[in-house]
Amino acid sequence: MTTRRSIIAGNWKMNTSLDEAVSLASQVVEGAAEFDGVDRILIPPFPWIIPVRDALSGSGITVGAQTCYHEDSGAFTGEVSPTMLAPLCSHVVLGHSERRHILGEDDAAVAARLEAVLRTSLSPILCVGETLEEREAGNANAVVERQLRSALAGITQADMSRVVIAYEPVWAIGTGVAASADDAQEMAAFVRSTIGALHGSTAGDGVQIQYGGSVKSSNAEELMACPDVDGALVGGASLDAGEFVAIIRAAAAGG
Ligand code: PEP
Repeated sequence: MTTRRSIIAGNWKMNTSLDEAVSLASQVVEGAAEFDGVDRILIPPFPWIIPVRDALSGSGITVGAQTCYHEDSGAFTGEVSPTMLAPLCSHVVLGHSERRHILGEDDAAVAARLEAVLRTSLSPILCVGETLEEREAGNANAVVERQLRSALAGITQADMSRVVIAYEPVWAIGTGVAASADDAQEMAAFVRSTIGALHGSTAGDGVQIQYGGSVKSSNAEELMACPDVDGALVGGASLDAGEFVAIIRAAAAGG
């Protein structure tokens, strides 16, 4: 049986001043450095990646990026490339629902970014998830499968071993209404079997799958206890060091 490491990532989105970012990172180091059985990642806005990385130095907690472009360099004003991020970051989030639904990234854009990221040392955290309308129409699995196939069908098995999946139902992100543990488990198992069908059972068994959507200290224990959920991608609660450390503690206990 594959043993998967738990993985907790805090997506700060477009929040924090420089001082707040460094202070938050330092508080997380204080509370979470001991949980070295869990992969722990802080994902600040681009300008704070270097100061946050410096604040995390020696703690075993790594820094990640919230998105990137699919080209390495060139006339792409405002974009940041995977090759720029690779010396600084361990992970990069791709296809977050806010990128898909507010900023217009479609499946093809997400797939191109993933391919570019896999040419570097970075690990992509690929976000997938259905809207409320899609769930209510009974299409949640079809949407998630389409998003997974579009991004992952063309990559190698070796590259697949570096990909993390975040199942984030759009209706649960930032709403305070998390998926039930049963729904999170059911979709995580579906994601695992879809990856197994695409890249073989070793890939399916080994892939780290996060749940994301209104995770907080009060529901983390239940969600982290799901057998196919290996961790969480945390938005709002990651801006509070005490909350975020409690979620890491729940993952350490449940994972
Ligand atoms: C997210 O941003 O990926 C997220 C899950 O946000 P929240 O935890 O605030 O719902």
